[in-house]
Amino acid sequence: MPEIETNRPPVAIDGPAVSGKSSVGNAFAERIGYRFLDTGLMYRAATWYAIENSIDVSECSAVAQAVERMVFSVVNTDSGDNLIFINGVDVTGRLHSIEVDNSVSSVASVGRVREIMVAEQRRLAGEGGIVMVGRDIGSVVLPDAPLKIYLTATVKTRAIRRHRDFINQGVEVEFEVILKSMEQRDLVDSSRAISPLKPAADALIVDTDDLLFDQVVDRLIELAKDVL
Ligand code: C5P
Repeated sequence: MPEIETNRPPVAIDGPAVSGKSSVGNAFAERIGYRFLDTGLMYRAATWYAIENSIDVSECSAVAQAVERMVFSVVNTDSGDNLIFINGVDVTGRLHSIEVDNSVSSVASVGRVREIMVAEQRRLAGEGGIVMVGRDIGSVVLPDAPLKIYLTATVKTRAIRRHRDFINQGVEVEFEVILKSMEQRDLVDSSRAISPLKPAADALIVDTDDLLFDQVVDRLIELAKDVL
């Protein structure tokens, strides 16, 4: 992997669930020699931790208290992926269950949870050369990022992709269940009061419906040329 140049400005990539942000963002980061941070994993970790501690995720103050206690860290592997450790244990493999999917939007709408996560995201961005993906990166976390991308695709395309991921992992979940869960997550994420999912005013919209993975990464490289 190329050496990270810490004086290079951050890149913000936002978009709805399964719009390809993580895989595209990771490949793009590798090509431009940046680190990669998937902020969705941080909200998933908070959700997993709340569920693990039998907390009702609709109870904002109980969720906030639990997340304040949670000792977590994000580690980059050599291949650029993120691992999440909670109390020293790698929990990354447990963060994409349907249970976490169904509760993460509630946890992510708690103001105190967002404060904790955004502070850590800005601290990591301060180390330089980072591609950060999420929902509010361009609009809230890194409003001064010179390159802001908003990746999108229809809810049906995204549900098909997620269904395929589950099948590849040998997990049986009905397509309709995934589609419903995704529609619900889109609704909660884009209508919440704090940091709703929406493109920043100066974000460049990239619709991935009819693009192959490599074509999306190439498109981002093209957009980055004049800016980074
Ligand atoms: O990106 P991913 O689908 O893994 O994110 C999981 C959830 O985390 C989202 O549905 C959203 O509720 C929350 N999230 C957020 N802000 C971010 C990243 C993720 O609210 N920056």
